[in-house]
Amino acid sequence: MIARLGRSPARLSTLHEALRCVKRVHYSDDSMTTSPDKFTCTRCGNCCRGTGYVYVSTDEVDRIAAQLELPTDDFLETYCATHRGHLVLKSQKNQDCIFLEDNLCRVHDVKPDQCRKWPFWRSVVETYSGFRHAKSYCEGLKEFGYRDFVRVAEEEDVHPGH
Ligand code: SF4
Ligand code: SF4
Repeated sequence: MIARLGRSPARLSTLHEALRCVKRVHYSDDSMTTSPDKFTCTRCGNCCRGTGYVYVSTDEVDRIAAQLELPTDDFLETYCATHRGHLVLKSQKNQDCIFLEDNLCRVHDVKPDQCRKWPFWRSVVETYSGFRHAKSYCEGLKEFGYRDFVRVAEEEDVHPGH
């Protein structure tokens, strides 16, 4: 589920700083874990449901619309809404993302970058509280302590807007 994208010096510097910080602090969940060296998505679907927004860029709209073989306007009308002036995906009545079906993403191959990069978002990597919150519902994080997660994040990409 997670894309491995190119490294930027700024991102690596931020991650190294986070890693230095976590080495100095004791985190209550670290002693309970098994030092996983890789994030594995269990496809529980929890990151695609509940409150929150999936932001989409115009490129992503084009990409997903093409995958669904829909004209852009039809795609926007059927699948998109706005939140504070930004384009977002609609939710189903139960607050699941409109593309979540049987715990799987209907547009997996072309899903928005925000989804592609989860759980390696800045808000999860750089703050223990963010990590703890993500871990409370993301099954793939269950075995992770914060230190190990930050270490693994060095090999992954962090979403700049979260
Ligand atoms: S677009 Fe796909 S991956 Fe992203 S929240 Fe919706 S169902 Fe989940
Ligand atoms: S919450 Fe975590 S384990 Fe569940 S589908 Fe999302 S990334 Fe995968």
